Amino acid sequence: MNIPPDSPVLALEHNVTWAFENATPYSGKSLSESVQNGHINAEIGLNCNQVDAPPQGPFLHRPNAKAIPEMHLSLKHLELLWSFIYSWMVIYESGIQKPMLEGSWSGSLDITNPIIHRALRLREWSASLRTSASKWPADLPSPIHYPSKQEQWYGEKANLVFQQAAAFLLGHEYAHALGKHLEAKTHDVSDYEVLLAEKEADVRAFESLVEFATDDDEKLDKAWAIITALLSSLYLCSDMKQAFRQRRHPQLHHRLQHLLSMLNFQGEQYQSYFPMLCVIILEYAIPELEIMSSSEAIFEDANHVLEDVVERITAWSK
Ligand SMILES: [Zn+2]
Repeated sequence: MNIPPDSPVLALEHNVTWAFENATPYSGKSLSESVQNGHINAEIGLNCNQVDAPPQGPFLHRPNAKAIPEMHLSLKHLELLWSFIYSWMVIYESGIQKPMLEGSWSGSLDITNPIIHRALRLREWSASLRTSASKWPADLPSPIHYPSKQEQWYGEKANLVFQQAAAFLLGHEYAHALGKHLEAKTHDVSDYEVLLAEKEADVRAFESLVEFATDDDEKLDKAWAIITALLSSLYLCSDMKQAFRQRRHPQLHHRLQHLLSMLNFQGEQYQSYFPMLCVIILEYAIPELEIMSSSEAIFEDANHVLEDVVERITAWSK
């Protein structure tokens, strides 16, 4: 089955390139300079014709050894990313955080609320993309359809986070291009050197996005972007264990912890806000972990619970 390129995320195609091009350049070198110097191709390819394969994250491609590296995105991955961001934003903020702060949290999501109900359906569709291709359900929220005022509010926030998440992922690939990591792959390099290159790419992508965000409030949407960019990558593999087992990549949960510590939130409320989000998404993605920590326990000491989850993932993914 071919998916015709009429996806709602195409409405944000230019926002993605804008966010990437306007992220802070590394070490004073602008993107246009890198293009002029032949380090990267100015065009970002968009692959629309992935059939029944799982969505593919951004990648660097060099048609031959002498060619200039090109960055590629896939439409199916962008759909996964937006629907992942939107649905978790609504579920987490409206479905969990709000009732908790108001003291009305019952221990489970209020599925009688149509906004939450639709977000849960979108999350289900998002997760289904890793095993089967299907068209965006027309009645669910998307970058071109907000069924209610409140969904529009979340949708616009999701648009902003989405473009930054895509910019972060592109920034990671761009750092590989500038660091000539692609050439290194063809030579016999140790796993350790590859791990270092991956870490460097994450740090550079992080800096290009977050460098000028000095206070907690400015970091909020960027933190959402980085965390969802990483966690949605769980759905790029049809085998969840594989996502944690990549021999030549730092393990996903360690990347997550590293970037969380780099975000360095000062306010007490944010120090638990993002670790709690990570725990809830990881618990949902890997039910085999059987964490079953109560939301109250995570709310109390999210950092500690996240450490416990990371240990369990390490043992489980071996
Ligand atoms: Zn990489």
